[in-house]
Amino acid sequence: MNIFCIGRNYVEHAKELGNEVPEEPVIFIKPHTSLLKDSSSFYYPSFTKDLHYECELVLKICKQGKNIDENEARGYYDQITLGIDFTARDVQNELKTKGLPWEKAKAWDDAAVVGRWKSLAVDTDCENIGFTMIKNGQPVQKGNSAQMINSFDKIISHISIYFSLHPGDLIFTGTPAGVGSCVVGDVFEGLYENESLFNLKVN
Ligand code: ZN
Repeated sequence: MNIFCIGRNYVEHAKELGNEVPEEPVIFIKPHTSLLKDSSSFYYPSFTKDLHYECELVLKICKQGKNIDENEARGYYDQITLGIDFTARDVQNELKTKGLPWEKAKAWDDAAVVGRWKSLAVDTDCENIGFTMIKNGQPVQKGNSAQMINSFDKIISHISIYFSLHPGDLIFTGTPAGVGSCVVGDVFEGLYENESLFNLKVN
């Protein structure tokens, strides 16, 4: 199982981190070991002093494919949830400055959190899905798939140019503006429209 992630897929988020808006999707991968298995056992990692949350819509692939046409991409995912792409921002900034890969900042054990899966009906309007990240009872990120630079179908098509997709693969589709630091004791809740899909405490 592979976990693909898209970076800088919302204009306002790219700007808040001082990044340029990319011309094509930015792709990075987290290993299967980065998937948090038990939502009650997330711990603040020892190697960072600036752990950031990034709430994202996450797709699950249901069909094997390679070089998938954008017009046919909808047939390759059938479940969706909300997740957190946890990022050691201080580590990432240092790596970016040196032009080095991001894995130490984003691909560590438990850095990928996913909520409860929902099946995605074929007639769901995937370009108008609203979601909210709640931190300690206050909304900190509000996003909608309508704001994404690259749609789900565009992302699937682009990833599949380079990587074959397989059932069970996950795709983190990027985070909207409002990312920020967290500390031990913070509690995060992800709302898909108005439905709570995850609840996570930083231990
Ligand atoms: Zn992200």
